[in-house]
Amino acid sequence: MKTNAEKSLKLIIQIEKLNIEYKKLSEKIAEHAYKCWDSKIEVSSPFSTNVSACLTDWLEKKFEIEYSNCPVTGREYEHKRPYYVAPLMTEKDCPHCYAALQVIKERKLLKQKRGRIKAQITKLAKREILKELNQ
Ligand SMILES: [Zn+2]
Repeated sequence: MKTNAEKSLKLIIQIEKLNIEYKKLSEKIAEHAYKCWDSKIEVSSPFSTNVSACLTDWLEKKFEIEYSNCPVTGREYEHKRPYYVAPLMTEKDCPHCYAALQVIKERKLLKQKRGRIKAQITKLAKREILKELNQ
């Protein structure tokens, strides 16, 4: 049976490894986006400097206007429904930004994993605080 100190150290090391991996994935995402950016600069005119990777647009929250009828007055009203285009995009839309999206998904999973480990550390810390209080 491991002591709480040993468990804590193991968890802290796991978090640090995930932090390193997180940084690597973020760099990978940027690399893919830069490739898109570069390929767009090649085809755009030298006067247009306003170039960005499609990824920026894909990850932007967009709104669709929908119409409904009020159940009380029966009058039609409009409301905005938020959506993202990212899940609809394929490799054909842009291979670079699509590759970046895949890495973003991977990074999301890593973030969840990191969250679970942080929760374990919090649990251990709370247990230790309780011990201190009861002494
Ligand atoms: Zn792109």
